[in-house]
Amino acid sequence: MEIYRTEDGKVTKYVHDDGSETSIKHAIAEDCGGNYGKVTNKFNVFISSSVGCPIKCKFCYLTMKKFPFRNLESAEIVSNVIDAIEDQVKVYPELKEKYVKLSWMGMGDPCINFMKTIDSTDMIIRYIIKQKLCKGIDGIDIGTTMPLTTDKGSILYGLELFNVFMLDFPRNPLRTAISPFRIFYSLHGTTSIRKDLIPKSMDLADAWMELHTIPPNQAKVIIHHMLLNGINDSDHDIKDLLKLMKHLTYKNDHQLRILRYNSCTNSPYVESTRFHEIIKQIHNNIPDVKVQASPGSEVKASCGMFLLGDSIG
Ligand code: SF4
Repeated sequence: MEIYRTEDGKVTKYVHDDGSETSIKHAIAEDCGGNYGKVTNKFNVFISSSVGCPIKCKFCYLTMKKFPFRNLESAEIVSNVIDAIEDQVKVYPELKEKYVKLSWMGMGDPCINFMKTIDSTDMIIRYIIKQKLCKGIDGIDIGTTMPLTTDKGSILYGLELFNVFMLDFPRNPLRTAISPFRIFYSLHGTTSIRKDLIPKSMDLADAWMELHTIPPNQAKVIIHHMLLNGINDSDHDIKDLLKLMKHLTYKNDHQLRILRYNSCTNSPYVESTRFHEIIKQIHNNIPDVKVQASPGSEVKASCGMFLLGDSIG
């Protein structure tokens, strides 16, 4: 396993022998622009569900790099994550007094095999709590495109199981949500643009129906959307996005988050030059919209964007 740490030690990337990566990021008080808010009694672990990814989103670094895909078994995922957490806690023993957030936002899509994600999460949590490597659970974030292979009803079924498992574990007292789960759905387009950007994902209408079935006591649903120059940032695109969000009839406490694009070598995409103007327009219609730097902007490690950056060494 290769280990890369930022100079301030707040972010570490672990490159495992199988080629997949785990990143660990400490919450720090100043980091309240997006992911961490004021909850600083936690640390985040970004997990890869596979080596490479078969979804092949066109904006993803793995696709551009033609990173070879290999499925990982639960035992391999669990072992990778535990190796990373054990190293982290050895270097920063104070983390044992913090709560852990597990973010399935590394390589791969955790909904390709949601039951495997459940099993792996359960095994990781049981181990780290038994070994006293953390104080309890802050949350479980699942980033997904809703792959073509997603069985109808499988996500809700999995969440129901997941939430029962979670009753066994101590939760961060600073979190008030009933469920520790959040589903982050990668939208990035409301028309055929989405199918073009994320070819191996379910049609938007089908994915939308699945997301509608998830009640707030099972998971909060958050829509992730990037604004790419000349791709999905025309007036018409934004009108469609607003219309789609307006017609969301979730029982869920849904939320729209605009995700900053992590540009990378060879990418044909850049963030919209109209970014600020569009955010203003969205904000006028959806006042609680959030703009979020990718969780991996420092480690270049959000969903698929696992770059070995200059800032890490
Ligand atoms: S962005 Fe995520 S789902 Fe898409 S190809 Fe990359 S790792 Fe896979």
